Amino acid sequence: MEKILIIDDSPVQANFLSSILTEDYEVSVVNTAEEGLEQAKIGDYSLILLDVIMPGIDGFQLLKMLQEEVVLRRTPVILITSLNDIQHEERGLTLGAVDYITKPFHPGIVRARVNTHVKLFQYWTQIEREATVDQLTGVPNRRRYDAVSSKRWQDAIRLGAPISICMFDIDKFKVYNDTFGHPAGDKVIKAVAETAASKLRRGTDFFARYGGEEFVALILGGGSENDFAYLKKVRQAVEDLQIPHNPEVSQWVTISIGGITVLPKVGSTYDMYLKMADAMLYDAKRFGRNQVVWTNERMEQLREK
Ligand code: GH3
Ligand code: MG
Ligand code: MG
Repeated sequence: MEKILIIDDSPVQANFLSSILTEDYEVSVVNTAEEGLEQAKIGDYSLILLDVIMPGIDGFQLLKMLQEEVVLRRTPVILITSLNDIQHEERGLTLGAVDYITKPFHPGIVRARVNTHVKLFQYWTQIEREATVDQLTGVPNRRRYDAVSSKRWQDAIRLGAPISICMFDIDKFKVYNDTFGHPAGDKVIKAVAETAASKLRRGTDFFARYGGEEFVALILGGGSENDFAYLKKVRQAVEDLQIPHNPEVSQWVTISIGGITVLPKVGSTYDMYLKMADAMLYDAKRFGRNQVVWTNERMEQLREK
């Protein structure tokens, strides 16, 4: 069931509105703008119904704050108000509300408008998902990675936190395809992605398919030794899947990982460090594959095995 948030300082009004929608939606009600903002950030809502006249922060102000804070989710907001003059309606719609409903309202019309906007939001979410998720593996795709990597880099600068950039590559995968066929190869890519993604699922982690049989991970705040140790576990988890490879190459399917941990500063560029992570991956291949090779800003190399 889709979730709807009602923000209205009058419990009577809010409960009436809620009773209209509760059959088709999971409705939450809060009675202050502050609670509304908090809920909107964490609650995964498909629509917000916002009262305009409230003590303290009013609906127009809160709408502005929602637009700034919940940018990524773009949850649609319908304003509900007794201010039925054209100026207020224009202001609300200009601020970005998707609709403007004046009190007293007709339940059937509110329901219809709500249904329309929830449906539009669902379409939008689905399209966004398809555009940013890799079809084969279900992990974020290259396009998503491009957007997230620059954001994470900026976050690390702002927080003064170390960030690790890691490149993954399946070992001798051309041989795998040549031996077992492309469809079997696809299954391996999927299994590797799912295994790595299941280990990199904290809010500070990001894992994506970079292209072909290559993946990329970004880890915020862990530090060089921690992240190196953790990525060794990820590599081990893939080996532990025990997917048979061509025995002339190796017993199981394995991956090599190259990574770097840096404390980014204003002016240093992400791409420079991505290249270094790639160089570490190249070293991991050169040193015999199925291993993690790591470095830091001082170019001290950590090597597994
Ligand atoms: P290395 O250990 O040095 O990485 O050797 P490799 O054979 O894995 O490296 P190479 O880059 O030569 O080959 C990568 C192979 O991955 C070739 C390509 O056909 C295969 N590949 C890339 N994308 C896909 C895919 O989506 N599905 C399948 N089945 N194979 C893919
Ligand atoms: Mg490759
Ligand atoms: Mg490879």
